[in-house]
Amino acid sequence: MRYISTRGQAPALNFEDVLLAGLASDGGLYVPENLPRFTQEEIASWAGLPYHELAFNVMRPFVAGSISDADFKAILKDTYGAFAHSSVAPLRQLDANEWVMELFHGPTLAFKDFALQLLGRLLDHFLTKRGERAVILGATSGDTGSAAIEGCRRCESVDIFILHPHNRVSDVQRRQMTTIAGDNIHNIAIEGNFDDCQEMVKNSFADQGFLKGNRLVAVNSINWARIMAQIVYYFHAALQLGGPQRSMAFSVPTGNFGDIFAGYLARNMGLPISQLVVATNRNDILHRFMSGNRYDKDTLHPSLSPSMDIMVSSNFERLLFDMHGRNGALVKELMESFKQTGKLSVEDERWTETRRLFDSLAVDDEATCATIAEVYRDCGELLDPHTAIGVHAARECRRSMSTPMITLGTAHPVKFPEAVRKAGLDEPQLPAHLADLFERAERCTVLPNSLTDIQQFVAAHGNRGKPL
Ligand SMILES: *Cc1c(COP(=O)(O)O)cnc(C)c1O
Repeated sequence: MRYISTRGQAPALNFEDVLLAGLASDGGLYVPENLPRFTQEEIASWAGLPYHELAFNVMRPFVAGSISDADFKAILKDTYGAFAHSSVAPLRQLDANEWVMELFHGPTLAFKDFALQLLGRLLDHFLTKRGERAVILGATSGDTGSAAIEGCRRCESVDIFILHPHNRVSDVQRRQMTTIAGDNIHNIAIEGNFDDCQEMVKNSFADQGFLKGNRLVAVNSINWARIMAQIVYYFHAALQLGGPQRSMAFSVPTGNFGDIFAGYLARNMGLPISQLVVATNRNDILHRFMSGNRYDKDTLHPSLSPSMDIMVSSNFERLLFDMHGRNGALVKELMESFKQTGKLSVEDERWTETRRLFDSLAVDDEATCATIAEVYRDCGELLDPHTAIGVHAARECRRSMSTPMITLGTAHPVKFPEAVRKAGLDEPQLPAHLADLFERAERCTVLPNSLTDIQQFVAAHGNRGKPL
């Protein structure tokens, strides 16, 4: 499988190189040159498979030519064996034909484990084969950091540095990062906000001199391997509920458009999906596009669902690419004008065509808490605020009551106790494997909001705690 850039100018790469590259050299994002397509019979024959075997069938074409079947199978078995529920992604019924797919049984209790547990193992596989090491540098406002650290903690060939804003992430989220011990794990609390952290990561990718020739790898959702891993659970859900013989609708709590883009790809690969609901919080740039063809940048509004607090959605460019007949030159033009003006809209026919599949809703904090309370009252399922946004949007936007509607349950409620409290409910208990989280020792370095300080720190510790 070869991968091409959404801006049409970077060279095509194979899977291994895309995994290690992150952003394309022309500023675009990598997508498969040709999407694999499965027949209904093929998909139907996967019913009843364990999750890791289904994952192998769905992802095999994407990695073809880069990793052997036997190695890939072993990696997938190990990856999804680390989840705390034997079905990996269990479905819970809320109402007639209405379901939540619980994607929070991985080590850090959020769906990001599905991709980052796999990403860490794949990185280690390829780097070991090449005899190389890599430095991962990422910024987090919460979930990504812990999932990335958990995903890479056992990687021999990787040192991981995660920046978070000092005193601005929740206690559970911070401890999920800082209590993981390892001489290749480095938590840095920046005396600044999340944007400062992100800016430093961006600037470090742009000018890598401080790395003394070492490779820098991105773990945010622009990395293709993360999208790829998320396609699998759409197939998993559909196969549990009578697919592919009947079609499904999904509602997806959305920030950077990564998780829902995976659903869009699942549909293009042959899975009958009749509707995708983009569920956002007050940070609703995607809802403004889907409802009115206006992708206009706004200011950031902090919400009770912080993992979706974004101003622009990095993966939206991948959808734009398809919307424009995969014409990289057109996408480049659109993105460059968006960078200057902060505004983007597409031709009417392209937008109308997109809306045949996608609906959307922006849900405020009040409706989020009301949904948490209502679903708990009606079926005893305690939702986290992101998932509650998905359920609320599913109920408002649903096109057909006879099509199963599945909301992606993106995080465990214990990670977001403030929203649960505001819904008038008792805070949930930490699951068994994290029960002693508040007794574990923390490891974190506080650094000033300065790019030179961060880069010096990375250079001084980037080789299993030793200088690069
Ligand atoms: C990251 C995250 C999201 C948003 O996912 P995207 O792929 O960025 O759209 C939603 N909910 C939770 C809990 C998350 O951690």
